Amino acid sequence: MVVVNSIENGIVIDHIRVGNGLKVLEKLGIDTTKNTVALIMNASSGKHERKDIIKIENSEWIDLTALGLLDHTATVNIIQNHVITKKIKLSLPERVVDVIKCKNPRCVTSVEPSIPHIFHLVDPKTEEYRCEYCDEIIKV
Ligand SMILES: [Zn+2]
Repeated sequence: MVVVNSIENGIVIDHIRVGNGLKVLEKLGIDTTKNTVALIMNASSGKHERKDIIKIENSEWIDLTALGLLDHTATVNIIQNHVITKKIKLSLPERVVDVIKCKNPRCVTSVEPSIPHIFHLVDPKTEEYRCEYCDEIIKV
């Protein structure tokens, strides 16, 4: 069992998909010359599961949108005085299936109920998704 709040102040990115930690660290552009950063790879998470964890000491901000795109199943814990003061659940997957429905009445998904509703993220800033079949834009 890894103690997630073992830093005094900072950010812990928990439940990163195993093997994804290094990529997250690189893509988030976390400054390892300014902050003390720990990457814990292949930590145990429950009985049969594994995860990566990143701990960034004395940091209060990370790019949550980028992290959401990289690994939306990760969770972000803000630590103050060894205590988790905030837990952030990520969203914005790049591709979603059967979560949002296309509003275009001429779309094949409106006509044929057995077809999965597949959407792709257009722009994380505007939270818009594009229908795979008809290019209809849906704002989430
Ligand atoms: Zn559609």
